[in-house]
Amino acid sequence: DDALRRAAALIREIPDFPEPGVLFRDISPLLADRDGLNAVVSALGRDSEFDVVAGVEARGFLVGAAVAQAFGTGVIGLRKPGKLPVVADRIEYTLEYGRATLELPADTLRPGQRVLIVDDVLATGGTLGAACRLVRQAGAEVAAAAVVLELTALEGRDKIMGETVRALLRV
Ligand code: IMP
Repeated sequence: DDALRRAAALIREIPDFPEPGVLFRDISPLLADRDGLNAVVSALGRDSEFDVVAGVEARGFLVGAAVAQAFGTGVIGLRKPGKLPVVADRIEYTLEYGRATLELPADTLRPGQRVLIVDDVLATGGTLGAACRLVRQAGAEVAAAAVVLELTALEGRDKIMGETVRALLRV
């Protein structure tokens, strides 16, 4: 729709970040814009029924908390290692270069809850796939995995089979 098209124009492309040869998409200017934030928040929460939002560190925190507030749910931050005082569970996963870990804070997610997982960008799918596994391992259900932007050439969606993946914008 129109609002999303205008929001898309606010995404910045930065060549050679974080390493040479990579074109980084920065959604910070979009989030800083009132209409841009509004457009992505309502589109991310549309079309699924969920009891709680899980946002992936760090830009998924910003978007996830806004979605939770707009749709009247709580929010959970899925964190990088070493940040949480009490960890309910963790998942290690492979990235293009090296490994990464996501942790679920204790006393947050309850079995049977329907979770909307939110992040800014879907690239290789490692991160979102790990977030889905973390939710399922807790006995909860992935309502959908929703991102602002999908980098389709990396085929990350294929790593998240069996779940609904929703991307507002695709390049
Ligand atoms: P993936 O695990 O390869 O899909 O990478 C997704 C994770 O890396 C997300 O948490 C994103 O925030 C981050 N990421 C990867 N590429 C980009 C990008 O171009 N812009 C912003 N974040 C990115």
